[in-house]
Amino acid sequence: MHGLIMERELLITDILQHARRNHPDVEIVSETVGGGRHRHTYADAFERTCRLAHALDRLGAKRGDRVGTLAWNTHRHFELYFATAGGGTVCHTINPRLFPDQLVYIVNHAEDRWLFLDTSFVGLAESLAPRLPSIEAYVILCDRDDMPDTSLPNALCYEELLAAEPDDYDWPALDERTASGLCYTSGTTGHPKGVLYTHRGIVLHAMAFAWPDSNDLSMRDAIMPVVPMFHVNAWGSPFAAPMHGAKLVLPGPRMLDGHVLQSLINDEGVTIAMGVPTIWMALMQHLRDKGGDIKPMNRVIIGGSACPVALMDAFRAYGVQVRHAWGMTEMSPLGIINTPRPEFADWPEKRQRAMDAKTGHGFFGVQMKIVDDDDNELPWDGEAVGALKVRGPWVCRAYYRGEGGDDAHDDNGWFNTGDVASIDEYGFVQITDRNKDMIKSGGEWIGSIELENIAVGCEGVAEAAAIAVEHPKWGERPLLVVRREDDAQVDEATLLAWYEDKVPHWWIPDAVEFVDEIPHTATGKISKLALRERFAGYRWKLREA
Ligand code: ADP
Repeated sequence: MHGLIMERELLITDILQHARRNHPDVEIVSETVGGGRHRHTYADAFERTCRLAHALDRLGAKRGDRVGTLAWNTHRHFELYFATAGGGTVCHTINPRLFPDQLVYIVNHAEDRWLFLDTSFVGLAESLAPRLPSIEAYVILCDRDDMPDTSLPNALCYEELLAAEPDDYDWPALDERTASGLCYTSGTTGHPKGVLYTHRGIVLHAMAFAWPDSNDLSMRDAIMPVVPMFHVNAWGSPFAAPMHGAKLVLPGPRMLDGHVLQSLINDEGVTIAMGVPTIWMALMQHLRDKGGDIKPMNRVIIGGSACPVALMDAFRAYGVQVRHAWGMTEMSPLGIINTPRPEFADWPEKRQRAMDAKTGHGFFGVQMKIVDDDDNELPWDGEAVGALKVRGPWVCRAYYRGEGGDDAHDDNGWFNTGDVASIDEYGFVQITDRNKDMIKSGGEWIGSIELENIAVGCEGVAEAAAIAVEHPKWGERPLLVVRREDDAQVDEATLLAWYEDKVPHWWIPDAVEFVDEIPHTATGKISKLALRERFAGYRWKLREA
């Protein structure tokens, strides 16, 4: 017998409809690409989204068409998210930091019909345009006055398109399984793989985003995603903010500028911000150099790669709580977050901090398990380490057009994340490594994340990566690659001594190499692949493991 509850589809359109009715005056503030701050409200954004939906229709958009974006975190990108999905097309956010060949690959793979781009990406688009046959027009996100001189074929002005259209729109009643967005994983090996989001997945994710033991987002908050809208929907914040009535503060192209971040936090009363560790190290460096505070900020969500304990301590000194989080493009992206269980409150400080440093716990919607090489489930005892598998209503079930990651999904609907983890008796997960980044020494695994975390806690170390390098006796041994802070003198002996008593002796790296620059991937993470290539064939000094 079926129950008698309405079966309303879960649609992205309803998020903005809700915001303009219930939170019409709540602001979206963005740093603009041209400089200066733009501010408008959810009511304004709704009207402009209606205009944009009409403009897409006028361009000839049909259900399911892909609309590419090459854009920073701004109000216009926000409008694109909602106008595309709401009208039944798919917002394909493109990461401009990918290599040109990868960009060409994904635009052609997605068969984008239009490319909406910020003025700062016009040069990039011009260089790619001859290789992008599916693009019918390039819509530049600016006013008529700011339209650049460009060789792009069929270049249109975004504001001109909007100005010509009415500010209400008859949003279609879509099936909630309709595709809403497309984001390619940066793919350290092989081609990038497309993750195709649905209305249903995005709405459920935006609900879970706000739960108290997730990000705890409410209408009393102002949230600043310092994670790009071109990468996993800025972790879902542009959907969660209007759903929960929170003010949305968008840093535009200046995400690595500590001064801009600090002034946005203080001027706009940002209570919660999110981003990868690199971004926050830049802010902390700025605060150390220039002074001042970040008083309104109450919590920061740090994920995308492991958050060093030193960074958590630095935030704590400013009265900001760090919530460590883990996720992936394939998971929309939230999967694990760290908030303390009530019983931890009675524990000694040191033990509490050790729990904060773990990756965190699951929450409703994401099921997790760790398995051994034969897919046997391992116990949650904090000791057993295995492949982390997940499933849930915002986890991807296959890649776009069925291409890539053939063995990622098993027959029971579990997705193999490619990460390796332990889970303790409290349900707290510790991600120890990415499968391909693990270091196998004499048949035993060494966790590179822990080695890096410890290195970054040593004075004078700005950034560190532990990579596996071939070793004649042990198969592989860890090599630590370090970028020093400006003017710091820290040397190899100091660093190696720093590991004593912090890890088993055989985990201690065999050598340290100092470099001026550590390579990063398109999503701002340390590129272990590039480092492994650079140090392939490395000649070990005589020190024994
Ligand atoms: P890409 O790295 O290709 O950009 P994602 O952004 O989807 O793809 O990255 C997901 C991966 O990032 C995870 O599988 C995991 O390896 C890593 N990651 C994310 N958050 C954390 C974290 N808190 N600790 C350790 N690793 C993390």
